[in-house]
Amino acid sequence: MSTTLSAPPLALLLEDIVRRHRPQQGVGGVPTNIPFLATVPFDRFGIAVATTSGEVFSSGDAGVPFSIQSISKVFTLAMALQGGRSSSLWSRVLREPSGTSFNSLVQLEAEKGIPRNPFINAGALVVTDHLLEETPDAASQLLRFLTEQAGQAGPAGSQGQAPGRRVPFIDEAAAAGELDSSSRNLALAHFLKDFGNLTQPAAAVVENYVRQCSIMMTCVQLAKAGLFLANNGEGISGSVLSPSEAKRIGSIMLTCGMYDAAGEFAYRVGLPGKSGVGGGILVIVPGQCAICVWSPRLDAKGNSLAGTAALAELSDRTGWSVF
Ligand code: GLU
Repeated sequence: MSTTLSAPPLALLLEDIVRRHRPQQGVGGVPTNIPFLATVPFDRFGIAVATTSGEVFSSGDAGVPFSIQSISKVFTLAMALQGGRSSSLWSRVLREPSGTSFNSLVQLEAEKGIPRNPFINAGALVVTDHLLEETPDAASQLLRFLTEQAGQAGPAGSQGQAPGRRVPFIDEAAAAGELDSSSRNLALAHFLKDFGNLTQPAAAVVENYVRQCSIMMTCVQLAKAGLFLANNGEGISGSVLSPSEAKRIGSIMLTCGMYDAAGEFAYRVGLPGKSGVGGGILVIVPGQCAICVWSPRLDAKGNSLAGTAALAELSDRTGWSVF
């Protein structure tokens, strides 16, 4: 893969991307089942790039914490694969694009409780259940994992953070708000349970899953945390996964990471990505960098409108692509 980083250099290019893509009007939607997300100003836009050579570039609101939502699914999958219990996981969830919405019930029933992939909600609930077999609180374990991978471990106020609330953190109030309207995720969990594909109580799995989604992080932190996926499984503080496991997560991101718009995203951006309904998208450029973009307003499929457009332009202007 060649990089055509012609002028302007990356720092200036990111500033230009922010100038061109920061929303000027409140176009696009926000999820109706997560009240907190409707309160985020429409004009937020941040982007960060963490390179395998150890540099971090960022622009716009890249230091503002946002709700990572389904981007968490990439990291819970990585944690599940770390345990050396991948074969038991892969007998419970497939690795195929779903072609249906991320919280669809129909497919799960038709396919007898085996979710199509770990990045739709049903698949993530199975991954959560798998993690809960080993730990009483997978969300807190995920928080520790992300904190370490983002280089934020240590006392609050260290690592360049302002003293005060430590980021990343679980926004427990946002999680409680989402839990109040989680009927659909509960329905998915009960289907899984009925088909014998959930070992823990359905309500406990949904509660833990919703708390994972409610983790708040910045673009800079997410780009750094995702670096192991671009760097043969090596994170900023050592090995996270084997090179082949890291490659496989990238493959699932490419085919299943953008809800039922994975094909359109591959066409426009040409890179593995995972989005969340908080408006974040994590993208991997194998061997080179991890990118996180955030802008809260979503298209009809649940992907950040401005974020997707910005990534399409960034990939065109840098030549970064897996194709
Ligand atoms: N917490 C959200 C839900 O389960 C996550 C959705 C997403 O980001 O795709 O509905």
